[in-house]
Amino acid sequence: AAPKPRPERRNEDFAALDQAHALHPWQHFQGMAREVPLVITEGQGCMVTDTTGRSYLDAVGGVWCTNIGLGRREMAEAIGAQALKLAYANPFVDVTNDPAALLAARLAELAPGDLNRVHFTTGGSTAVDTAVRMVSYYHHARGNPGKTDIVSRENSYHGSTYLSQSVGKRNGDRIEEFRYKTEGIHHLSCPNPYRRPAHLTEAQFCDELVAEFEALIARVGADRIGGFIAEPIQASGGIIIPPEGYLKRMWQLCQRHDILFIADEVVTGFGRIGHWFASLAEFGVQPDMITCAKGLTSGYIPLGALIFSDRIYQAMSQGPSGWFTSGYTYSGHPVACAAGLKNIEIMEREGLLPHAAKVGSYFETRLQALSHLPLVGDVRGRKLMLCVENVADKATKALLPDEANESKRISNACEEMGLLVRPIGHLNVMSPPLTITEGQVDFVVETLERAIARVTDDLVREGFKLG
Ligand code: PLP
Repeated sequence: AAPKPRPERRNEDFAALDQAHALHPWQHFQGMAREVPLVITEGQGCMVTDTTGRSYLDAVGGVWCTNIGLGRREMAEAIGAQALKLAYANPFVDVTNDPAALLAARLAELAPGDLNRVHFTTGGSTAVDTAVRMVSYYHHARGNPGKTDIVSRENSYHGSTYLSQSVGKRNGDRIEEFRYKTEGIHHLSCPNPYRRPAHLTEAQFCDELVAEFEALIARVGADRIGGFIAEPIQASGGIIIPPEGYLKRMWQLCQRHDILFIADEVVTGFGRIGHWFASLAEFGVQPDMITCAKGLTSGYIPLGALIFSDRIYQAMSQGPSGWFTSGYTYSGHPVACAAGLKNIEIMEREGLLPHAAKVGSYFETRLQALSHLPLVGDVRGRKLMLCVENVADKATKALLPDEANESKRISNACEEMGLLVRPIGHLNVMSPPLTITEGQVDFVVETLERAIARVTDDLVREGFKLG
């Protein structure tokens, strides 16, 4: 067949090309038909620039991932130098490369307790996918082949492979259409204090959540439940900070019943709330496995990792199978691992973890000022992981109907004023680079406030009832 003609492209064609040929993660078909995608072409620090030359403060941090900020020359140089030195090496069986070995050792140092073993993956989803499969492998190796069920929570997001998305369960994701795996997966209630039953205090709510897990174990049997997976703070399920003591009590239940605790730190890892990993430092939990990605390379190049305990390694290596038959062509990719090493070096040298903790506290306080707005039901989050939840009625916490589309309209209004925030359901979510300054936080909060006020006026004019 004759080759397809390739017309010359001008800058402004990118959006049209994208609309004609690309399918985005979570693309909304009707939404895309109406709106022109934003085409980003440059980025520096917290700022990104589109094809028209307009700049935006990216308070989303890519997708919770540009932790050290964009446009770092030394990252580009580390990536370029490694690509020239050794662009690829086979990671299978008994071959490795120097950046992969070094990064595995660094991650073992940074991870809490006896999490000294690292399996590299291509991103967060594949790290979770491997973790879930490792649960079965581990219990099988120890003579408990029936311990394969996984316990997760409503509103969790653990990635988008078949298995990681089956384990997650966010409102609005297309469970029916995609026919995810349901057998052997149990979802407990979401530990969202804002939406807890009105008659319960937060402490009573916590008791109920723990009791729910206990009841599940009693019903299904500890001989069948192999693992519990949790984001320490549920991220895209709505920035859910669980009630005080919840994670620790869930972990203690896991320990009592020989259930592996998987902390999905794809978002909370690498400084987002001021620590390398949040599980132990923030919540007092020593997980058996940690999954991470995103901030591991600050989004400069794809990489994920499953960090797991010596105990799991010993059990698997002494099991009857002899082979760990799982892994990827790009496990331990030398260029990605070189980026990971440089990323950690930069975070340490510039003190980005303490900076994130300090500027994050400032952000928390500043954002609270928005809670007086009639549309804002809740302002929540920790450090550089924050959101506002929009409601129709602050007293009843009732949501606006979907057609109000208020969080998307708020993010559009922000965009017009040079700010990117992320609409998720009825939330506007922020997770900027850790390098954000207090002055930039002021801009984010002031701009978001103006956008919410403008959209509120429009909603009232259109006849939506606000309580
Ligand atoms: N786990 C959590 C908590 C996430 O937020 C995400 C992505 O947002 C993933 C896993 C999946 O990571 P990836 O998109 O790198 O596969």
